[in-house]
Amino acid sequence: MLISVRFHGRGGQGAVTASKLLAEAASLEGYYGQSMPFFGAERRGAPVVSFTRISDEPIYEMSQVYHPNIVVVLDPLILKAVDIFRGVKEGGTIVVNTTKAPDEFVFDQDYLNIVSVDATGVAIKNDLLVAGLPVVNTPMLGALLRADIPLKIEVLEGIVRKKFGKEGKRNVKAIKEAYELASIKLVHGSGKRSYPRKKKIKVEFPISTPAEGVAGKTKLWRDFRPEIDYEKCNDCLNCWIHCPESAIRLNEHVEIDYDYCKGCLVCTTVCPKKAIASEREVFVDV
Ligand code: SF4
Ligand code: SF4
Repeated sequence: MLISVRFHGRGGQGAVTASKLLAEAASLEGYYGQSMPFFGAERRGAPVVSFTRISDEPIYEMSQVYHPNIVVVLDPLILKAVDIFRGVKEGGTIVVNTTKAPDEFVFDQDYLNIVSVDATGVAIKNDLLVAGLPVVNTPMLGALLRADIPLKIEVLEGIVRKKFGKEGKRNVKAIKEAYELASIKLVHGSGKRSYPRKKKIKVEFPISTPAEGVAGKTKLWRDFRPEIDYEKCNDCLNCWIHCPESAIRLNEHVEIDYDYCKGCLVCTTVCPKKAIASEREVFVDV
């Protein structure tokens, strides 16, 4: 199981803190948790994105989340500025801070569940204000727990109490209220999860590929040949990240370019699924 969450907010709303608190709660529940922020302009009000991964296995991906199961939108106005639907998996869930009911949302992605909550109202009611502006991160975490996420509200409350000291009581109250207040619309009546393995890899940043240099094609350096077992591979991309020759390509799935693979077998050691075996290399054409 790997649950990927992407938070969209504005500087000052607490998206980064929410992402960290979620990862900490996951760790306390016995899962592996990872959190990382991505800042654009670091100033109050600027769009902020933060990512959390929760898994029952060690997490080797260190990238931003490109295909989230859950998207949390702390500011409804951000819907007009940012494509919050980008890459969300079918059966995934949008958790949005709004006074609207889920049925009032009309968008093309009719394969997504919606959880809506007036987190701003909850924040104001509980006096969660900084410089006069409502901080909605803890109420949004309360609503997020309605999105079929395997964490107990008590664990989250404990973390929040610890983190916020004397302000913890109000934040815990806000979590509970938002949890109760949240409205849910499941497009897959069964509440089908969006956690299965990825079907197709899509990378949205530049990657380098090997080219022939002074050493020529490095395949002749190999004593052993890595072979990927696609039945075991879960497309985590760890081998792709670590290959020192950039000899692993991304197509439908990871593929080894045997012209340039030099047989170092780094990929076999970093694969968490033990999906890459090493075979004795025999070159029939040499
Ligand atoms: S054996 Fe080394 S060079 Fe070849 S694919 Fe694996 S990591 Fe890359
Ligand atoms: S072969 Fe292993 S390391 Fe590479 S993508 Fe598959 S599971 Fe990840």
